[in-house]
Amino acid sequence: MAVIPDWPEERRRMVEKQLRRRGVHDPRVLEAMGQIPREEFIPPESRLLAYTDDPVAIGFGQTISQPYMTALMAALLDLTGTETVLEVGAGCGYAAAVLGKLAARVMALEIVPGLARMAEANLKRTGTGGNVEVRAGDGSLGCVEWAPYDAISVAAAAPEIPASLLAQLRDPGRLVIPVGPRYDQELRVVTKRNGRIDYRVATLCRFVPLRGGQGWR
Ligand code: SAH
Repeated sequence: MAVIPDWPEERRRMVEKQLRRRGVHDPRVLEAMGQIPREEFIPPESRLLAYTDDPVAIGFGQTISQPYMTALMAALLDLTGTETVLEVGAGCGYAAAVLGKLAARVMALEIVPGLARMAEANLKRTGTGGNVEVRAGDGSLGCVEWAPYDAISVAAAAPEIPASLLAQLRDPGRLVIPVGPRYDQELRVVTKRNGRIDYRVATLCRFVPLRGGQGWR
């Protein structure tokens, strides 16, 4: 017998237990993640795991990030609603939908064409993609078309901060990116201000590798 979960209730619990209780307090992030139907971004065979406290497989050997990580990265970008945002590594499109609620517009790049198509379909079906543009391509090089970006979120781990992304970041602007080897990275919050680039480490983390020209070969 198939039991259909109470998705809004699962979502409410995820926001409370996984986000608020762990220190994510940005009301706009909590509201966005309390609204967006995360289950709709996950392939049917994994859907029952939509609100678990872990990354979940989305096909093509990739994952949707743990909800807490999506929330943390969005909160670290400190968005107010006016920004142009670049997301590198759209995957199934969930984080792009969250960023779309927090900013003016989002360019979401995904290197696996099948996932880019899935992200686009998910955003459309859930009505969350109105201000999100999904493109298939190598996001380690950014996308000059909408540059400079007020904020950049990278959802895959890089060997170093890609120079192209730094070049496409507005001054002032903010970039969040995991940097480090395969199983052991630091989540860096990079700021550009008055021509100066600084970073701090927000937490330790484990992301899938960033591929492409300025990722892992
Ligand atoms: N943002 C997603 C996380 C997806 S996982 C979410 O909402 O949970 C990271 C994604 O980065 C994978 O889908 C992977 O295919 C993609 N990726 C890896 N290297 C990339 C690159 N150079 N350009 C664009 N996408 C890349």
